Amino acid sequence: MVRENVRNLVPYSSARDDFSGSASVYLDANESPFDPPLNRYPDPGQKLLKEAVSIQKDCKPECLFLGNGSDEGIDLLIRILCDPGKDQVITVDPTYGMYAVCARINNVKRKSVLLRRDFSLDAEKVLETLDRNTKIIFLCSPNNPTSNAYDPGEILKVIDRAGCMVVVDEAYVEFSGRESFLSLVPEKKNLVVLQTFSKARGLAGIRLGMLFAHPRLIGYLSAVKYPYNISSLTINRALEHLRSAPDHVNNVSRIIAQRKFLEGELRRLPFVLRIYPSDSNFLLVKTERPTELYLFLMERGIIVRDRSGVPLCEGCLRITIGTEDENRILLDALEQYLKL
Ligand SMILES: *Cc1c(COP(=O)(O)O)cnc(C)c1O
Repeated sequence: MVRENVRNLVPYSSARDDFSGSASVYLDANESPFDPPLNRYPDPGQKLLKEAVSIQKDCKPECLFLGNGSDEGIDLLIRILCDPGKDQVITVDPTYGMYAVCARINNVKRKSVLLRRDFSLDAEKVLETLDRNTKIIFLCSPNNPTSNAYDPGEILKVIDRAGCMVVVDEAYVEFSGRESFLSLVPEKKNLVVLQTFSKARGLAGIRLGMLFAHPRLIGYLSAVKYPYNISSLTINRALEHLRSAPDHVNNVSRIIAQRKFLEGELRRLPFVLRIYPSDSNFLLVKTERPTELYLFLMERGIIVRDRSGVPLCEGCLRITIGTEDENRILLDALEQYLKL
């Protein structure tokens, strides 16, 4: 599956690759000797952080790639697997925009399969769209912006019959109560699972994404990435987070409780036509005059996402679940809108 030029690649070898033990005098990397510890390059192999993530995720470190956000993983997968102008990827739309943007940047064709009207995944339709140049199928579950998780049986059908790589993007899995596909990575060689520190873990600012896959694919990703793609600041903050993990579990419960509360309150508003069932930290809400409502909220300093121009999301706003106070401010503004 891997491009020939990547299979034959001799990766850049950094000073910290040549010597990775511990010494007392480092004169090998042209760093400044002053201002420790940030004068030093970070570990290009992220050994400590990979060990800590692997323990929490119960996977082998060889099956884990760490990226500058999940977005680095998405871009690298396309670059490693798809010959520009020849190979193609499949996205199941409406979905996360980065798959299409990365494909376009890399001059890789994309076929789009639509979800069913109820936003469920039609595995047969995805499989019918495959051809021998298809290298990657992107499945986002729970899906952004539709907010639902797909039937695991349908996802499995795609993995088992696709004959190409299948990426299951689980950026929102912690909000869903669904089982992650991570446990299937050791037995399904064409499965790639993406997770992130940006949503449930509350660390979008440090830019850290996790990609789980077969060790050979991880090897190619590691050879192609920028040598120091994860900064020391990110590594240290993530290690600190992993040591205090219970915090984020508590935050996830709070967000799920607020999701339920907000859904109940929104339902009482007559201009809200529909709220789609959510397995994520946002609600997709169909309203009358969505763009007018979007602008009304913006004038009051409340920013939501207008998705009303997206096929199958006509009339919809995407609203992230905030703190109790933020959600209350949103509901107060909506009450005012009702009075207009
Ligand atoms: C937010 C989001 C991500 C996270 O991307 P990062 O680069 O890790 O911040 C990944 N996939 C989907 C579908 C998302 O909505």
